Amino acid sequence: MRVLIVDDSKSIRMLVAECISSLGHEAVHMESGNDAVEYIKENSVDLIMMDVEMPGMNGFEATQKIREIKRDDWFPIIFLTTKVDDDSYTQGILAGGDAYMEKPISPLRLQLQITAMERIYRMRQKLEQAQDSLLEANKTLLHLSMFDQLTGLANRRNFDDTLDREFKLAKREKKPLSVVLCDIDFFKLYNDKYGHQKGDQCLADVSLALAKACARPTDLACRYGGEEFTFILPSTDLQGATIFAEKVREAIVKLGIAHAGSKVADHVTLSLGVATYQGQFKSGEEVTKAADDALYRAKEKGRNRVEKA
Ligand code: GH3
Ligand code: MG
Ligand code: MG
Ligand code: MG
Repeated sequence: MRVLIVDDSKSIRMLVAECISSLGHEAVHMESGNDAVEYIKENSVDLIMMDVEMPGMNGFEATQKIREIKRDDWFPIIFLTTKVDDDSYTQGILAGGDAYMEKPISPLRLQLQITAMERIYRMRQKLEQAQDSLLEANKTLLHLSMFDQLTGLANRRNFDDTLDREFKLAKREKKPLSVVLCDIDFFKLYNDKYGHQKGDQCLADVSLALAKACARPTDLACRYGGEEFTFILPSTDLQGATIFAEKVREAIVKLGIAHAGSKVADHVTLSLGVATYQGQFKSGEEVTKAADDALYRAKEKGRNRVEKA
């Protein structure tokens, strides 16, 4: 433990510090309440032994200030004092102190008191560890709820939330917003020919290329479901989004993933549909629907191509 000793008497500080060191803890000395408060602002401690009668800020005032500063933390504060009447006791506990030790200090009782406080310290450490793992688990859960496990891309929920947000922004700022829907051509036949595991690998490889295509920080690539992917492209007009989609199509062709079952090429290809909000739609879903219709036409017209709404 790091134990802060606050006392204007050097001899008492020495006595308490020696006891603390002999029990294997670290002792930090402060000779005034004000110094203790300043120290607490920058440092963490596990226990404070606090004198009550000190010139300037007394032990009760210092304790109250320390409790205010460390609102989200807690450690025991023990008063060292000759004043052990009911009034002083009440004042000390209400100021935020936890126990009293009467002066003159008995070295044995001091040792025992510190040993008892060590139990609280161990318990606090366990609590902190539990809190850390909870925070870590929450982070993992948040990530799982937003990103697709297989591909690492944003998932459907993330897509829905982002599109909703970007649509409102585009409407308010009167800016275009594009959505691109992509679907792997003849992917069922890919699975049939190479197996589901290779299918999954193909989805991961395609996803990586899609993620790389996002040049602007606001562009988002998502796994919409199965072998279908989407892009949200804020502040991008229909012409720009169509050029983007064409680049994506070419990037997937360039991957050159063999697909002997495909009826359109000997490698994996994508069909893409592009739609852009420029004031005409009422919601993000309507933009997506328009992109989906365009995608349908891309499939109809022979696949491995881009169609725009
Ligand atoms: P089209 O060119 O018309 O899109 O043909 P398709 O075969 O790609 O279309 P369809 O929608 O009929 O089939 C999609 C297939 O994608 C079905 C399923 O076998 C495969 N698929 C969907 N999700 C996954 C996945 O997570 N892993 C793997 N390996 N395959 C998947
Ligand atoms: Mg004193
Ligand atoms: Mg599909
Ligand atoms: Mg498909």
